Amino acid sequence: MAPVSREAFDREELASAIPTAGDDTPLARELAENARRRIQLTGRELPKPLQPRILTVANQKGGVGKTTTTVNVAAAMAQGGLTVLVVDLDPQGNASTALGIDHHADVPSIYDVLVDGTPLLDVVQPCTTVENLFCAPATIDLAGAEIELVSLVARESRLQKAIAEAEATGHAYDYILIDCPPSLGLLTVNAMVAASEVFIPIQCEYYALEGLSQLLKNIELIRAHLNPPLHVSTILLTMYDGRTRLSAQVADEVREHFPQQVLRTTVPRSVRVSEAPSFGETVMTYDPTSSGALAYLEAASEIADRGAGITD
Ligand code: ADP
Ligand code: MG
Repeated sequence: MAPVSREAFDREELASAIPTAGDDTPLARELAENARRRIQLTGRELPKPLQPRILTVANQKGGVGKTTTTVNVAAAMAQGGLTVLVVDLDPQGNASTALGIDHHADVPSIYDVLVDGTPLLDVVQPCTTVENLFCAPATIDLAGAEIELVSLVARESRLQKAIAEAEATGHAYDYILIDCPPSLGLLTVNAMVAASEVFIPIQCEYYALEGLSQLLKNIELIRAHLNPPLHVSTILLTMYDGRTRLSAQVADEVREHFPQQVLRTTVPRSVRVSEAPSFGETVMTYDPTSSGALAYLEAASEIADRGAGITD
């Protein structure tokens, strides 16, 4: 077992001092529970992974929370002391926007890396609101890359090569999270060849599982032909609405199919989460005490524990 620091011990003591509310007051109970979790997690230093991890955040459905999950998990990890790079591989550049990273048309971007072979570190920018957090931005050029890549040598492994070259210079990130576009084209293939893990956000709604089998089939194809270590390591249930039975049903079903992969934490629907990007911030700095920030902090903590071999 990992040694318990003095600070962690104090946090535990403080958390357990919060009175438990009766079952007849669900709101009070939820508030007390949130406060307890926040005390336990906030300011917690996250463990470094046994080896650097590269996760591709993928789901070919749009609007399921890929970008939101990428930027908030990345920010929470960086706040926990890990060095994290977000690679924005969606021409929409939503991850770049959410991290407050300049990505107008002339900015050196992941397009230059993929198409022209520009070194990855030449396009990486630091995030100004969170220390230890970096981003390789996407500009609108990337929309053309899907087609331009087709005629290039080693078209499926250009991102993998760029990351390997950056690592060879001695530059190490603890975590690289790659935000994919909502398609299974060459950009997503590049992401899946560069990573060894796939991280799938699933939105808790009716058609959530539709398309998942296609995604799994593609992962299997890439694993078999291009990248043997590739596997689905992590699934996060997003936009969970505790008031609907549907959310609970979807969550149960996903957990039944993927008991090892699904994180315990679910991310609730939260207005603060959706507001944050318009301020060029993640919810982790925009409103760190909101339920969404707390959920992403918990998710990041679970992922980091798994990566460090800590299980419970
Ligand atoms: P994707 O990258 O898969 O297309 P996004 O992360 O962009 O999905 O999310 C789609 C929309 O849903 C965005 O407007 C985002 O702000 C919103 N959203 C994502 N997660 C939440 C959440 N937990 N609560 C409320 N809105 C959310
Ligand atoms: Mg997105």
